Amino acid sequence: MATLVVQKDRLLYNLSVLRSLSEAEVIPVLKGNAYGLGDTELARLFAEAGVKTLAVSTIDEAERVREAAPEPEVLLLSPYRSEDEARRVIACGVTAAVGSYEGAELLDRLAGEADVECRAHLAFDTGMGRFGFLPQEAQRAAAAAKDFKNLEITGCFTHFSNSFGKKGESARRQFTLFEKCVQVLEENGVGPLKKHVSNSAAAILYPQFSLDAVRVGSALLGRVSVLNKLGLKKVGRLECPVCDVRTLPVGHNIGYADTFRTKRPTQIAVIPAGYADGLFVAKAADTFRFRDILRYVWRDFRALFGKSIPTAKIGGQKAPLVGRVGMCCVIADVTGLDVKPGDIASFDVNPITVSQRVPRRYE
Ligand SMILES: *Cc1c(COP(=O)(O)O)cnc(C)c1O
Repeated sequence: MATLVVQKDRLLYNLSVLRSLSEAEVIPVLKGNAYGLGDTELARLFAEAGVKTLAVSTIDEAERVREAAPEPEVLLLSPYRSEDEARRVIACGVTAAVGSYEGAELLDRLAGEADVECRAHLAFDTGMGRFGFLPQEAQRAAAAAKDFKNLEITGCFTHFSNSFGKKGESARRQFTLFEKCVQVLEENGVGPLKKHVSNSAAAILYPQFSLDAVRVGSALLGRVSVLNKLGLKKVGRLECPVCDVRTLPVGHNIGYADTFRTKRPTQIAVIPAGYADGLFVAKAADTFRFRDILRYVWRDFRALFGKSIPTAKIGGQKAPLVGRVGMCCVIADVTGLDVKPGDIASFDVNPITVSQRVPRRYE
């Protein structure tokens, strides 16, 4: 049975590195079950580390995180998609994202009915194309901030579509548009607001865009799509005990599609973990940059010549995987290594690819 190991010390290390970059507040983004790590556990961990704000992207996540960590402000980055969701936003006391005048109107009415004030940040769409006030609607955003007595607008933000891109032109363009939106808000007497635009890549590459806060997810996992120049530590390790160790004769096939044949008597370790657990499920998003694509091609090229990628680590020893990765099983070549059934095989994995039914262990 496979387990995803989450190294808390590494998460806290990465948090402290990001905090040391600037004065900007670091807001951990816990969407997608905290990138596969477990949102409630991470909410508690970061709350204990003194984080003031946690961000999520669905109302379900918001409710879970709110309950797990009552102290920090919880910022819901996506708009509520129905009246029911808006009610839940108000009921659980999280900070909403308001991306349209009508959205503000709805939230205000429901907050009034519940006799509470609802906190919200204004969302601007400066180029992501998802949601938010367009830059040309900044006046309307200012009106949304002023017209409703049950809303307390405390922040404003936008989201970069390509902060990892070449030269940062795209991010710079969006940042300039955002600054103009903020100017319109200020001219209308809205503010001062907490301003935040940067995700992980931007926080690393463009500290000049950090403003009051940065919203980071992948950097906390040490798995960024840009050069990891801060030395962030990778979080996530899949562990699975070896279930069998056998010796195969020369010329024996290993795995589906007959892609591997032993060239010598081969001692193999059978490891009952595979695609179904999220092992070696390629993450397309990792191949953003040409450099990464090249690296992948190089990896395949090396794999073609039987070099030791990918590998498992068993008892501190590196063992190349042989044959295709199966749904529930991989085979490691452990010839000459001291490996016995029950030994733990471990794999570097991006937690986002690890199946939700794989238990998480925090260490
Ligand atoms: C996912 C997300 C982030 C964090 O992105 P990373 O690149 O993982 O740091 C920040 N802001 C918004 C709005 C997001 O959706």
